[in-house]
Amino acid sequence: MELFKSMDNLNEKKDPQKDKQEISEHVKCLIIGSGPAGFTAAIYAARANLKPVLYEGLQPGGQLTTTTEVENYPGYPEGVTGPVLMEDLKKQAERFGADIRWGIATSTDFSNRPHKVIIDDKKVIEADTVIIATGASAKYLGLDAEKKYAGKGVSACATCDGFFYKGKDVAVVGGGDTAAEEAIYLAGLCNKVYIIVRKNYMRASKTMLAKVEKTPNIEFLYEHNTKDLFGEDGVEGAILIKKMGTPEEKEVKINIHGFFLAIGHHPNSDIFADWLDRDDVGYIKTTPGTSKTHVPGIFACGDVQDPHYRQAITAAGSGCMAALDAEKYLTMLR
Ligand code: NDP
Repeated sequence: MELFKSMDNLNEKKDPQKDKQEISEHVKCLIIGSGPAGFTAAIYAARANLKPVLYEGLQPGGQLTTTTEVENYPGYPEGVTGPVLMEDLKKQAERFGADIRWGIATSTDFSNRPHKVIIDDKKVIEADTVIIATGASAKYLGLDAEKKYAGKGVSACATCDGFFYKGKDVAVVGGGDTAAEEAIYLAGLCNKVYIIVRKNYMRASKTMLAKVEKTPNIEFLYEHNTKDLFGEDGVEGAILIKKMGTPEEKEVKINIHGFFLAIGHHPNSDIFADWLDRDDVGYIKTTPGTSKTHVPGIFACGDVQDPHYRQAITAAGSGCMAALDAEKYLTMLR
């Protein structure tokens, strides 16, 4: 629920001149974001003596802190939980001297060198290189009810909020791996879990789908779309449309207390919109095969620039590329 509120804050356009700012610090390498991309960039930058300063952002540790078991990150034969993996990456970066701080980048000015990044609306950091690793955030359907019931039944993170629905009936919206994973997690806590899928199939991987199908208290609602949520003080149910746009279309009501979104993510790139090229969705454009944006000294890595792979390991790999690209850039400046 926190994330939902925080995203609204992030999307607000901040005026860098509006609040009192202290020009405070000059750094060689500033990293924004603390997912696998940010921490890997910090490990490489610290080892290259770039003395990186990393601001953790809205969700320290990134999206993996909201996931359960990660079974496909190389080097963990028995799997590892998302939070443990992120804590390990953070410790590894700190071991080499990365300066990891609490704080959110609220606006940027990449018009001149050194580039400026404003932290928490106040502190201005001047940086020779900036590595953007701000990741992506959960999408919502856009229903008024999602805002109305934020913190009262609507969530985009089962591992964060599932506990509140212990023994109750809940629903997960989406047909991908995230929806499957969230449904399995919730099925272990809740009485019953509906998966609301807009198509007549799930696009989740076969392994994940097989696990969902084996879970007795999960019910698939294929070809259903959510129209609205209802309830007095919190969610008590959802109104769905079955087979929307066909002659068999009909309204279906389900009684649930939790409504979990798992319909994909939006790249967290809004504060860079004035300076960097982005695609239609908001992914930052980089020169293929590198982490370079079109502004010299500004690099992007991880999910904020990757509409295709979006895996922890590919994010980590691109974080490494960004640190190497930044190092090379600084060498050329000398
Ligand atoms: P995806 O983009 O893969 O799936 C999003 C799902 O949400 C789709 O089924 C899509 O439907 C549905 N959807 C989108 N918009 C709406 C809407 N407005 N109304 C209803 N349904 C909607 O996102 P995921 O977050 O699931 O996965 C992202 C990536 O992360 C994938 O590559 C995935 O494999 C990976 N991942 C891996 C995990 C693991 O290996 N443990 C765990 C979680 C994710 P439709 O199919 O109709 O387009």
